[in-house]
Amino acid sequence: MNNGGLSPENCMVCGATLEYLANKVTLQCAYCEKEFRGFIKCPNEHYVCDDCHNAQALLLTKEVCSRIFTTNPLDIFEEIIKFPQVPMLGCHHALMTAAAFLAAIKNEGTFKITEKMTEEVYERTQRQAIGGYCGLTGLCGIAPALGACFAVLAGSKCGKDKEQKITMDAVSEIVSVIAELTGPSCCKAYARKSLDTARNFLEKNMSISLARTTDKIICQHQKRHPHGCRAEKCPYYL
Ligand SMILES: [Zn+2]
Ligand SMILES: [Zn+2]
Repeated sequence: MNNGGLSPENCMVCGATLEYLANKVTLQCAYCEKEFRGFIKCPNEHYVCDDCHNAQALLLTKEVCSRIFTTNPLDIFEEIIKFPQVPMLGCHHALMTAAAFLAAIKNEGTFKITEKMTEEVYERTQRQAIGGYCGLTGLCGIAPALGACFAVLAGSKCGKDKEQKITMDAVSEIVSVIAELTGPSCCKAYARKSLDTARNFLEKNMSISLARTTDKIICQHQKRHPHGCRAEKCPYYL
């Protein structure tokens, strides 16, 4: 999708600063032209639906994951977000986080991760990662995205015993580390800390060891944050 070279953290159509509403309004997506009830729009009445908003980031994610061979999920995530076309905030972070985690596990080799499993994780994630809902329900989509990864690995479904427990335990740890980082929210910080937590959980509970980042990750995106970077309060700040 062409965003016209505009700063992607703003309206993807005209570049204006986005408005986050407290109540839903009916809006038409500027790309696919379908109507939605949504909470995020630009002052010029542009709206971009989740699918259209995430489309380009998802293409880049698939491209990076198909050619990268590290078992460090954080390195894979950083490689994806390097692209300037990836919007600063939004639920593509849930997809990118799940993809980075699965690609690292695939590269490690103990679990056979198929294309079908990855597509299944994307599909489940898209049902629970909805733009703006980190603030509207308290659940950032990155938690169910990584939950979908554990569910697929463990074979969890409603009615299962240990398989569902391990998935829910992983998600509850991730939700709690995300809550420690908020004020205001930053999808990139949430993703990094969640991947770290998911990696530790995987090692402890499924005996799969993924590579660790030894150097401190220093975020290169501070100036792009539309709600203001948390600066010294963020563990990834310079
Ligand atoms: Zn606009
Ligand atoms: Zn659309």
